[in-house]
Amino acid sequence: MSHPLHGSCHCTNLQVHVGLSREPLDYQPRACDCGFCQAHGAAYISDAAGSLAIEWHEEPGRYRHGSRNAEFLFCRQCGVLVAVTYEADGRTFAALNVRALGSDTGFAAEAPASPQQLPPEQRIERWKKLWFADVVLRPATAAAPA
Ligand SMILES: [Zn+2]
Repeated sequence: MSHPLHGSCHCTNLQVHVGLSREPLDYQPRACDCGFCQAHGAAYISDAAGSLAIEWHEEPGRYRHGSRNAEFLFCRQCGVLVAVTYEADGRTFAALNVRALGSDTGFAAEAPASPQQLPPEQRIERWKKLWFADVVLRPATAAAPA
């Protein structure tokens, strides 16, 4: 992947490895207006043609709300929300909270998003189309990440 980015939660327990298919400036982080995402100040990027891996030392916490279809991953040590995931057909889809990548990412300006206005089926179709697909979620090993 031509544009690798690496980040983590605040305490570095959760490590994030991203491969973007386009220049970072091509991505406009979506600041979700649901109460949970606002409480975290979250804004998301995704790339169906990119790659995402999240590795941990201590298993992340997981949280569902609303339609309960998506699962939010956060660090149980420092509380940082790292990603939101959706599992279907044996595949893991996810959108990444750009807050886990620091402030120096080169993304475009953030835009507000209101996914909760879509009916659940439409939201799921959108996730499958737009989110990172075949996301790797696994405990960190001594070996270098893929
Ligand atoms: Zn942490």
